[in-house]
Parts: sequence; structure tokens; C-alpha cells
Amino acid sequence: MSDSSNYTNARAADTPIYLDYNATTPVDARVFARMAPYFTAAFGNAASRDHAFGWDAAAAVDEARYHVASLINARPGEIVFTSCSTESINLALKGVARGGAGRAVVTSVVEHEAVLSACRQVEADVEVSYLGVDGAGRLDLGELAESVGSKATRLVALMFANNEIGNVNPIRQASKIAHDAGALLFTDATQAVGKVPVDVRADGVDLAAFSAHKIYGPKGVGALFIRGGASGTKLEPLIAGGGQERGVRGGTLNVPGIVGFGEACRIARLEMGEESERVGRLRDGLEEVLLKELPDVHVNGDRGGRLPNTSNITFDGVDARSLIRHMKDVAVSTGSACSTGSADPSHVLKALGLNNEQAYSSVRFSLGRFTTEAEIEHAVERVVSSVRKLRDAPRSG
Ligand code: PLP
Repeated sequence: MSDSSNYTNARAADTPIYLDYNATTPVDARVFARMAPYFTAAFGNAASRDHAFGWDAAAAVDEARYHVASLINARPGEIVFTSCSTESINLALKGVARGGAGRAVVTSVVEHEAVLSACRQVEADVEVSYLGVDGAGRLDLGELAESVGSKATRLVALMFANNEIGNVNPIRQASKIAHDAGALLFTDATQAVGKVPVDVRADGVDLAAFSAHKIYGPKGVGALFIRGGASGTKLEPLIAGGGQERGVRGGTLNVPGIVGFGEACRIARLEMGEESERVGRLRDGLEEVLLKELPDVHVNGDRGGRLPNTSNITFDGVDARSLIRHMKDVAVSTGSACSTGSADPSHVLKALGLNNEQAYSSVRFSLGRFTTEAEIEHAVERVVSSVRKLRDAPRSG
């Protein structure tokens, strides 16, 4: 075991308070310590069969695969390592949709852009239907059953938890509906893994995508769970290569990254319950004070069925970008980091029925492992004073 005391997750006094954990998380110092030797002394290629460097790397990958699989109650042979969730999503959707000619995919309008854009690409080969949601972002399972049953559906693709509003979908019921109709259930579990229990066996999941950098692991590593492994659920590879990952994903394995992913999953399995409770209390406290101190503030999403760390709030009459600029010592976001740069209002908030002005007045707070009570107190004060100032300021134009 490496010594993690050289590394720290303590916040330097001059850095902003980070409340954007759904965009990415810092690598946990314990994870970093575990990864470090695999960049230098233990640098072997996991596919080198002829010497100890290769054997050591392969053993480290095996151990990591075990931890990644265990976190979601999968078997190690059912995990394929990729570069990120986006790649896993593309592998799953394109691999399945294109494998069964002329058959349909059912998904939802609130999916992450990675799913939506992969769906747009397979529309040339298969019919894709997009389910809507209600004002709290909830799916209608009756509508799902109807859509799945009305055509020869090959794949149901629904996110486990939403990155913007935090809603947790009823994946267990959705997978039953999919299976009753002979379809597979794919879930984008990127935001759920490590925050809420994901049990691919109990939940009836056939394919699941997730990523190390959302759970205190490094960027550049993801996983795709494939029920029964490569021979159980046949997928067309996106990246052909030297037969790595049982032929499903070619390319030399990112050994340090995979080791870090494994360690992040091992820690998550041990600490998730307590951590989610603590973070949930902080998030609820944040919402309580904002709702008490400020008029015309609305929490978006399903308050009874959300990730414990996520809060999406509309501040009526306040431009979210101005608010974010106004509080430089608090790092929050207007929505998904993966579509930042886009001036379009959030497709998730629009799907809930918010108009453009309301969507542009919404901020996502996402808390995590290193968020403290003192940080939340400070952040709330900053939000309250900034919203008051911006609302009082004479409007230009
Ligand atoms: N799916 C969801 C729900 C996400 O939140 C994200 C990242 O924000 C992704 C997919 C893409 O993940 P990655 O950055 O690992 O490609």
C-alpha cells in the first residue's frame, strides 16, 4: 500500500468553494496514492505476457476490475474498461442498436447529451422514441410500457440519475417492462454510481455506463457493464484493436487510471452510505435556508426521489450567469458541464416545463465528499446576498 500522506484533499484558502461535483470530482488522495506507482516503477503493459512488468500490471487491473464490478454487484468478467462514460454509452447504444437491424430504441428527453447524440446517430438504422417527463422530471411507466410494446423494441435506454436535477429513475420497474417486451435495458449510471446503490442484478440492468471522474477517481477512465460479458450480450466494438477487453474495446489499457478507478470504487462501497447521508443533510440545509431567506425561489426536480447531493434552483428574475459571476468564491454551474459553451437553455429544465427565462435563472449546486458545513454556510450567505443585490439592481435595456 502506498502512503497517501503526501497528498491532500484539503482546500487551499484562496480557492473557491467547490459545489460542482456533478461536473467532476477531485481525485481522492487515497486513490492518487494507489495510482502513483503505476506511472513510474510499475509501468508495465497489462497485455505483456512474457515478464513480471506485464504480470504485475495485469494483476493490478484484475484487482481493480473486481472492485469496479463489486460496487454494482456485477462479475469482473462483465466489466469492460473504456475512456469515459461517453465512450461506454456510445459502445452500448451503437453496439446494440446496430446489431439488430430495423428494431427500435426507447429513451427519454432528459438524458445526457452523450445519450441523445448517440441516439441521433443510430436514428439512421433504427427508430428512436423519446419519452417526456412531468413537471418534476418523472417518467410515466405506463407511457414507457406503451411505447416499448407498440413496436419491436431492442433497447430501452434510461438514465439511472439525472445530472442536472438529480432525479433517480425507477430502473427496476423500467427493466421489467423492457424484459417483458424482449428488450434490453441500458442505463447511464454515471451520476448514480457511488451516490446511491446501483445493483445491476436486483435492478435487472443489462448494460450500464459509468465513469471514474465522478466518484473521486481520475479522468480518462470509464466502464461498461455488459450482462454475461462479451459472450452474453453481443456488441459491435467501436474501437477495433489487439483483442483487449475480450475484443470489445481495443487499445492498451490505462493501467494507472484503472487502478485509480478500482480504488475509488472500493472506497465508495465502504463509505457511500454514511457519505450520502451527510451530504444529503448539507444539501437539505442549503435548500432550507435559501427558501426561507429569499422569495420566488423554486427547487427543480423530484424532491422526494433525488440524488442526495444535487439541488437545482430557479431564482426568479435573476440571470444565472450574472449570479455565478457575482460570487466568484463559489463554484457552481448552470447545468451540465458537458454542454457548457452552449447558449441554449437546459433541455432538462425545458422538459420540466420551465420557460427560457426560468431556465436561464437556474443554478445547479452539487455537493460531495469534501464539502463541509462551514462551506455551505458561506456559500448560502453569498447566494442570498448576491441574489438580493442582483434583484435590486436597476435593469439595463
Ligand atoms: N452521463 C451523465 C449523466 C453525465 O453526468 C456525464 C458527465 O457529466 C456523462 C454521461 C459523460 O461522462 P464522461 O465525462 O465520463 O464522458
